[in-house]
Amino acid sequence: MCQIIDGAAIAERIRIEIKQQTMVLKEKTSVVPKLTVILVGDDPSSHIYVRNKINACIEAGFDSEVIKLPEATKEVQIISIIHSLNSDHNVHGILVQLPLPRHINEGNIVASIDPNKDVDGIHPLNIGRLFLGKPSFIACTPLGCIKLLEEYKVKISAKNAVVVGRSNIVGKPMAALLLHKNATVTICHSRTKNLPEITREADILVTAIGNPGYVTADMVKEGAVVIDVGINRLSSGKLIGDVDFASVINKAAMITPVPKGVGPMTIAMLLSNTLKAVCDQNG
Ligand code: NDP
Repeated sequence: MCQIIDGAAIAERIRIEIKQQTMVLKEKTSVVPKLTVILVGDDPSSHIYVRNKINACIEAGFDSEVIKLPEATKEVQIISIIHSLNSDHNVHGILVQLPLPRHINEGNIVASIDPNKDVDGIHPLNIGRLFLGKPSFIACTPLGCIKLLEEYKVKISAKNAVVVGRSNIVGKPMAALLLHKNATVTICHSRTKNLPEITREADILVTAIGNPGYVTADMVKEGAVVIDVGINRLSSGKLIGDVDFASVINKAAMITPVPKGVGPMTIAMLLSNTLKAVCDQNG
């Protein structure tokens, strides 16, 4: 019988804990955590994601701000805004909502964020630290996935873990986290040959592809733990993951649903990273 991993419930518990810690912080130090989000362009999904992040900040008792910029904003303008946020002591976390418009070099933007305020964990320094096993800020989605595995007491050490997807924000940091927990990790991507053969070896299978229902039951080992990071909106408006939930549920031992699986954990980890930033910056 497959256990459904309740990411929404765990995220809710973490958010309540963060709210309580924020109250204590305010009482003792008068410091109010603040997250500033930069949103460039009109991508509807990005606007929804940012709204959800800001609502979570408000609920946790954080200050927050969204700097909305038009699609045509120049790279130098964004970098100049980031530099002023870097030196603003009232701003503890800076998040640039991705993806950015095509004319902007994402790498240049991310590199301009103060690594100590990089609550999304995507600055090269923070990625490097993660790969060296000395993490500072860890990307929110993979961090959320690891928390789910920990909460459900999934044994990671010595297990075969397969991560499908190699993006800088999900796949690569996810693989690093699993490696540091002593899994034997395989990373797959669009050029991988015989993907089903590889995924069938996975005790822990993490999918971050962006292809609705792509991973079917024949690609999953009996008794595997399946973490579905994908969020895909069908033309009907329905959200589904990268995993064909209806068939894989008959094979997996545990699985995250979409929605209410990894998604809520991403937001909870953003709050957690922002609170960590406040504490780090205030000794
Ligand atoms: P990217 O598009 O940056 O990366 C997708 C990865 O999947 C790439 O590495 C690509 O390979 C690989 N891929 C694509 N097609 C295949 C295939 N047929 N077989 C094997 N690998 C394939 O996406 P992200 O990592 O940013 O996001 C992945 C998914 O996760 C999306 O659905 C996104 O919406 C969702 N997401 C969810 C979050 C959450 O909070 N739950 C947060 C962030 C993302 P290659 O490198 O060769 O192109």
